[in-house]
Amino acid sequence: MSSTISNKTILFIYAHPDDETFASGITLASYANQEDTRLSLLCATRGQAGKPGNPPLCTPEELPALREAELREACKILGMNRVEILDYEDKHVSDVPKEELAGHIKKMIDEEQPQILVTFAPHGISGHPDHIAISQATKYVVDHVLDKSSSVKKLYYVTIPLNSPFTSKQGTPTNGDLIENITTIIENEQQQEQVAKALLAHRTQHMSVERVFPGIGSHNYENVRTKNYYILAWHNLTDYIVDTDVKEADLFAHVTE
Ligand SMILES: [Zn+2]
Repeated sequence: MSSTISNKTILFIYAHPDDETFASGITLASYANQEDTRLSLLCATRGQAGKPGNPPLCTPEELPALREAELREACKILGMNRVEILDYEDKHVSDVPKEELAGHIKKMIDEEQPQILVTFAPHGISGHPDHIAISQATKYVVDHVLDKSSSVKKLYYVTIPLNSPFTSKQGTPTNGDLIENITTIIENEQQQEQVAKALLAHRTQHMSVERVFPGIGSHNYENVRTKNYYILAWHNLTDYIVDTDVKEADLFAHVTE
C-alpha cells in the first residue's frame, strides 16, 4: 500500500460497537501501522439492543456504557485515532430522518477532512436495518450534501464475498456480493492477532464473535479474517475505472491530493 498524498484520512461510518472490527478490522490494523494515516469512526449507537453476554456481564441499564467502553478499547487496539458515538437507539436508526443523520456525517467530514469514506453496503451484510440506514445516509451525503470542494474522493461499501462463512443473527441467508463485483481487497496476515484481540475486547458480544470466528474464545485465531472486501461505490477522480479483475489493494489507490 503506497500513496503519494499526505494527511491521509479514512472516516468509517457504522451503526454499532463491533461493526468496525467485524467489518473492517484488518483494514484498520493495516492503516494504523502507516504513520501518515489518520483513522476516525462515527458510530450511530451504543448497541444497547445487543446481548449483555452469557452469563450477563452487566444489567441492561449498564449495557450502553459498557459497550461504549468495549468499542473504545477495541479501537485503541486497532489504532483508531478518533471515535465519535451518536446517541441514537440501537434498532431505531432507520427512524431517524436521513437529513439529520446526514448532518452528523457532514459535521464529522468537516472536522476530519477525509479523502475516503467507508460504510456498509446497501444490504448491510447482516441485513440489520441500522446498517442499511447508515449506508443510505452516507450515500445521501455523497450525492446531495458534499460539493466539489470537499476533501472526499471516494466512498467504499464494505461487503463480503458471497462464499463467506459469515452468518446473520436472524439465520437468514447472508447478504454479500459476487467477487467479480468487488473492487478492493485489503489483506494483511500480520495483524490477524491484533484483530482477534479487538474482537475479544467486545466482551459482551462474545457469543456472536465466537459464532462468526469459531475458536477465537480459546485463542485459536485461524478463523479471524485477514481480508476485508469493498466495493468502490462512488468517486470523483478523473478518468478512473477500477479493473475488477485486478482489484485495488489500497483504499487510496489513484487518490493524488
Ligand atoms: Zn451492527
